[in-house]
Amino acid sequence: MELSDYDIREFISSLPKGITLVAVSKTKPVEEILRVYHAGHKIFGENRVQELSSKYEQLPKDIQWHQIGHLQSNKVKYIAPFVSMIHSIDSFKILRIVEQEAKKSDRVIDILLQVYIAEEESKFGLDMDEVLEILNSKEFYELQNIRLRGLMGIATYTENREQVRKEFRQLHEFFLKCKSEYFAGNSSFSELSMGMSGDYQIAIEEGATIIRLGSIIFGERNYL
Ligand SMILES: *Cc1c(COP(=O)(O)O)cnc(C)c1O
Repeated sequence: MELSDYDIREFISSLPKGITLVAVSKTKPVEEILRVYHAGHKIFGENRVQELSSKYEQLPKDIQWHQIGHLQSNKVKYIAPFVSMIHSIDSFKILRIVEQEAKKSDRVIDILLQVYIAEEESKFGLDMDEVLEILNSKEFYELQNIRLRGLMGIATYTENREQVRKEFRQLHEFFLKCKSEYFAGNSSFSELSMGMSGDYQIAIEEGATIIRLGSIIFGERNYL
């Protein structure tokens, strides 16, 4: 089931103020993205660089594109000229590459550090100690072409709501700790990207500022 144009407008305006919705359009054709765009929404997320670049080429240039999936170093150059935010920075190595490519494009790219919070083994992300290592390094503060806007996390895929809530709550607490210990007086560290179609209400209750919703807006995907 996907939302009608009317329902999309209703849904978006029903979200609490201060929540940024990233409409996750992966696997969906440009026509469907245009429907949501014409309903007034201009922030879209993709998890594959090739798909992101191709959709960027085909679609209106006032769309803000978010990279939400794991990023390979050799692909950063394709999105650096236009990407509006990268949610999935999961190593210092990829951070350095984004810095280099952003510099080549003469841009400052907003990024989030992806923190591993789920119980599953397969998810990408930094653990909290690795995030602190980055924030404690001198090199991080010398990077001129990235701007750290906050953290991103994906909860365990489970029916257990309390488990999901616990993971979001831990990430929010960690976010607040980072904010007060490393970014006091720097208002740009302000975003917490957590919550997908199945768990976004819990994420909002637990302090999300950005939610990433695919299937609830575009309908089910045939593959992930
Ligand atoms: C696919 C995806 C989403 C959206 O998932 P839905 O369950 O369809 O809302 C959100 N975040 C990431 C990182 C994704 O890969």
